[in-house]
Formats: sequence, structure tokens, C-alpha cells
Amino acid sequence: MANEPTYCYHCRTHHPRDEMRLIVTKTGKRWRCIRSIEATQQGAAAREAYGRLVSEINKAESKSRAQRMNNILQEK
Ligand SMILES: [Zn+2]
Repeated sequence: MANEPTYCYHCRTHHPRDEMRLIVTKTGKRWRCIRSIEATQQGAAAREAYGRLVSEINKAESKSRAQRMNNILQEK
């Protein structure tokens, strides 16, 4: 049956089979719901975007610091 309730190792509850994907883990094949997979992927994407933002800020800061240094050196 395509729609039989299947245990989701992520939510520790049952979902209809057609809302789930079979995931291969270290301990074997397990069913996990698409919703939790997508939530994790969005989480990873969000973390990645945040990491990029932080490194952009750091880059901008070190650039402006370098420019300040140049200005100081040029004033002398
Ligand atoms: Zn689930």
C-alpha cells in the first residue's frame, strides 16, 4: 500500500507513506517525511546564507579598516 502509515525516525511518529522518502543512514534504510527533510535543507541553506553574510561583513570591515590604515598612512 502506497499510503500506509510509516514510522518516521525524525518525528518519531507515523506519516502516510506518500509523504515520505526512504533515507539510507549508517544504521540502514529508514523512512523520513519530506517535510522534515525540506525543513533541514532550508535550515542548512539559511545557515549557509547567514555564514555568507557574516563573511561579507568581515570582508567589508577588514576592507574599510585597510582603507582607514591607508588614509592614516597617507596623512603622514
Ligand atoms: Zn516526520
